[in-house]
Amino acid sequence: MLWVKESVEQLLSKLHTNLDTGLTKEQVKQKHTEFGTNEFEEGKKETLLQKIGHHLIEITTIVLLFAAAISAYLAITTGYGWAKVVVILGIVVLNMVLGIYQENSAEKALAALQSMNAHLTTVVRDGVRMQVDAAELVPGDIIEIVAGDMIPADARIISSSSLQVEESALTGESVPVEKDANAVVSEKAPIGDRLNMLYSGCLVTNGRATAVVVEIGMETEMGKIAGLLNSTSKLMTPLQLRLKELAKRLSIVALLAGILIFIIDVYVYGETIIETLMIAISLAVAAVPETLPVIVTLTLAYGVQNMVRKNTIIRRIPAVETIGNTSVICSDKTGTLTQNKMIIQQIWAANHTPVKATTGFESAEQKVLEMLSLASNATIDITDGEETIIGDPTESAIIRLLEEKGTNKKALEAKYPRVFELPFDSDRKLMTTIHQVEDGFLSITKGAFDRIPVNFSPEFLKEAEQVHDSFAEKALRVLVVAYKKYAEMPTDLSSEALETDLTFAGMVGMIDPPRPESKAAVLAAKKAGIKTVMITGDHIVTASAIAKEIGILTDEDKAITGAELAEMSEEDLEKNIRDYAVYARVSPEDKIRIVKAWQKNGEIVTMTGDGVNDAPALKAADVGSAMGITGTDVSKNAADMVITDDNFATIVDAVKEGRTAYENIRKTIYFLLSTNFSQIFIMLIAIILGWGAPVVAVQLLLINVVSDGIPGFFLSREKADDSIMERKPIPKNAGIFANGLGKKMATQAVVFTVVTLAGFYIGQFVTINQSIGASYEVGMTMAFVILAWSSVAHIFNVRSDKSIFTIGFLSNRGLFFSAICSMLIILGLAIIPPLANMFFLVEMSLTHWIVAFILSMFPLLFVEIQKLIQRKKA
Ligand code: ATP
Repeated sequence: MLWVKESVEQLLSKLHTNLDTGLTKEQVKQKHTEFGTNEFEEGKKETLLQKIGHHLIEITTIVLLFAAAISAYLAITTGYGWAKVVVILGIVVLNMVLGIYQENSAEKALAALQSMNAHLTTVVRDGVRMQVDAAELVPGDIIEIVAGDMIPADARIISSSSLQVEESALTGESVPVEKDANAVVSEKAPIGDRLNMLYSGCLVTNGRATAVVVEIGMETEMGKIAGLLNSTSKLMTPLQLRLKELAKRLSIVALLAGILIFIIDVYVYGETIIETLMIAISLAVAAVPETLPVIVTLTLAYGVQNMVRKNTIIRRIPAVETIGNTSVICSDKTGTLTQNKMIIQQIWAANHTPVKATTGFESAEQKVLEMLSLASNATIDITDGEETIIGDPTESAIIRLLEEKGTNKKALEAKYPRVFELPFDSDRKLMTTIHQVEDGFLSITKGAFDRIPVNFSPEFLKEAEQVHDSFAEKALRVLVVAYKKYAEMPTDLSSEALETDLTFAGMVGMIDPPRPESKAAVLAAKKAGIKTVMITGDHIVTASAIAKEIGILTDEDKAITGAELAEMSEEDLEKNIRDYAVYARVSPEDKIRIVKAWQKNGEIVTMTGDGVNDAPALKAADVGSAMGITGTDVSKNAADMVITDDNFATIVDAVKEGRTAYENIRKTIYFLLSTNFSQIFIMLIAIILGWGAPVVAVQLLLINVVSDGIPGFFLSREKADDSIMERKPIPKNAGIFANGLGKKMATQAVVFTVVTLAGFYIGQFVTINQSIGASYEVGMTMAFVILAWSSVAHIFNVRSDKSIFTIGFLSNRGLFFSAICSMLIILGLAIIPPLANMFFLVEMSLTHWIVAFILSMFPLLFVEIQKLIQRKKA
């Protein structure tokens, strides 16, 4: 249905609802059964068969199936036996099962996030205004929406004031549309022109409205296209994208090496083509880190879970990685760095001296307080001594003091009824109300000292400035109140007409103490090479005093006002951006300039925001971070992550989690790729030397998927080194192998190659035991065992830059036991005859086993010595 044509009365009766009292509890219950919940059905999930299908078309699987086909051909034509075919197919299946299982657990972790993004909405039911989960709405519910909200369901507007809605999610048009309850809309009008309707998922950018819900869930316009939204492709992190590139390049290297081996083997050593083809395929297998992509996804999912536990909800997966690399955090002051618990400490009435708020007030101070209260929207309810304050903290401080001084706000409002309001906005930094008084009308304006349009005499201005600064230097937020009297109700109610030529009444100074964690968090960020910048709508003196207290503003830094910023050219701002730590009296629009200037300097910027106007800056930042408590839906929608406790320290915690995830991915790369590289070297060198292939495809697969793959999963849960927050952030375009990772991997690959080839040589050419003797098969068994064991042991190298004896083998139990299991599986395969046959392994003497063990542990020893030298150097 369209719902645009009927009159509101017709609609209300059709939906069996009442404008003033809303639906009853029973009606809601009954409608729930009839219409279901207000949720979009999840996009069709991939079925198991589809997932298997995806794995089958992966390049690794294709290579393996090709190898199985050749083996099958050999089995038929030469009576070679079917063992190889069975083993290869077994490993294909195992790789698939592991992959799908891990993908599912990652998916589950991420799906749990979706439910955390649920939001509350204001509804009238049984005559009571209440907040309910948007999913609970039913057709007929009377809802109230204000600027900053996301519309929870399709609804027809009943009444509205200055309402503007951004409907780009539906119409693609990003300019907000003005909506109006009384608009006449034809049934043929496209969605963008249905001006008396609100559509689910769109954002309210201005004004307020009361509306009646007409469609919910999949019946809403957004629900109808939800299927399309769900099919958008998964976002990849920068590192994942680079890994994908790397995998491609590795495949090419493997292909070239395969061709080289093929040529050498066939033309130089005269091997049969089929046999050589199998070796070339082994190489292709060797080079591909089969389990790496899954481990990376799992690590990111684990990072997301950890962040949730520490009050951060990640909305876009790449943010997990980017937050770890952030180098500048631009933070709001009020509520993020401070507690947002305002308390008035000082009050100054014109022509009096400033007094503490705790002293007994004379009539002049009381009058200032009453004026401030009349121009405030906050309310206090005291039931059974319990105080509930509704409204913004600046205004709550006023009302609390008023009640403390024995005046009741409701009684005051009854005496001077409010007839008009110009709401506060953070651009004007003013708010005005008009009241009916005994002899006419009184317009009261409250707001920032440097914005309030008072006609000061030069002497009085000087005095006022002195008082203001004396408050602000004590880190107090200053609020000024001024007034204008009218004999008749003014006709021009614009800000320009009302907020001019005012008479000064007084000012108050209120403290907003820093959060206790802020100072330590700023210091922690500094140690981690991250600059913290404060951005606030408050006065520069107040802002600077607080910034000094929490360590943001030091002797090397400067503070700047929005007005000064406006004077500065883009080039100058880019050049001098590093000098400024505090931006005061800025408007949300200035935030974008600040973000861009930092980004031009190559920095990765995290920006906080809560208001409607913050959305563009949140989008422009590398990590837009919205506030969970005070944040509007609009800001949350634009953000990459949401800080559920609004606390600056949480952002710094998130940086640590992000760095941990990033490091664990790098550790996994280090662990898996050193083995892959060494496998290529081993095959190439042995073939060139004419020693024959030291390992075959099935053995390599076994190493990559089972003995490295399984312990590798536990790297995703590795705890961070203490030093993780003591190093500089990783720059934007740093490659995968940055910070010495490439060098470490190359060295390790060489060490693996040397020990494996040494084992292969000893087994094949040196008689270390009379009864077993030297043979190609013994050499191959030695090579397999050494390569498998040493690469598993290598996991203890990659866990930390510290010695394994310092961090302890058991500090990641899953990893320890899976590594031991992997080593035992290798042992079992080599000594249990039917299994050994399947994998081309033969019996070895105890001496062989001892030699193999010593050689396998050599890479561990090598890295331990390297770490020792590094520690000595440091
Ligand atoms: P931050 O950007 O650090 O979060 P903020 O958002 O609280 O600070 P604004 O809300 O823009 O900053 O407030 C800036 C100034 O506006 C304050 O210093 C105060 O003088 C004035 N102000 C704040 N709230 C009100 C209000 N409700 N009515 C009138 N003036 C206000």
